[in-house]
Amino acid sequence: MNLFSKKKKFERRVSLKQETRDGILSYCKMSHPDEGILILRGKSEHGNVLIDALVIPPFSETGADFAGFPHNPLPLDPSYVGIVHSHPIGSAEPSLTDLNNFFGLVSIIVKSPYEDEDIFAWDSSGNKIPIDIV
Ligand SMILES: [Zn+2]
Repeated sequence: MNLFSKKKKFERRVSLKQETRDGILSYCKMSHPDEGILILRGKSEHGNVLIDALVIPPFSETGADFAGFPHNPLPLDPSYVGIVHSHPIGSAEPSLTDLNNFFGLVSIIVKSPYEDEDIFAWDSSGNKIPIDIV
């Protein structure tokens, strides 16, 4: 047993492929002024979530106030690592509704005007997760 390993705080990280990031930003811009919502595909290894693809969720209904989260169970696919949605108004902080509808390992929120620096990742407790663009 390595006692020193206990000193290192477990930290989740998100790696986002650059083209996936660009895909998210264009989708959010297209959906504006409504919220856009997409499923994040990728894989998780040792707390590091790599996101490299996007899926349009079934049954999604978007409106100005709220991106309709898929209430019907999503296909049980281990490559679905989370959800991204946009906030056309206000900050990129997750709302109570967002946290109650948390799906997967990570929730990404993009705020208007959906530029590179407007994208944020959160865990199920509403803590910010650092994003690496890869
Ligand atoms: Zn939200």
